[in-house]
Amino acid sequence: MIIEEEIDTEDTREAENAVEEDEETEADEDAPEGMIQCLVCGEYYQAITEPHLQTHDMTIQEYREEYGEDMPLRPDDKA
Ligand SMILES: [Zn+2]
Repeated sequence: MIIEEEIDTEDTREAENAVEEDEETEADEDAPEGMIQCLVCGEYYQAITEPHLQTHDMTIQEYREEYGEDMPLRPDDKA
């Protein structure tokens, strides 16, 4: 009597293309009242000013090109 008990342990070959991407660049959350978030540094300010953007080595125009034409630069700028 031959009992062929072949236990195939061919374990999954998954988990080889686990692509992990950390994309946590979401703004507009819990903005303090009367404040606007600088999307470059993530800090909140009363307004995104040119001098502030200069600390990031950009101009307001570049800021808008980067983050959107309609990006508000001050809290009451929202359309
Ligand atoms: Zn900033």
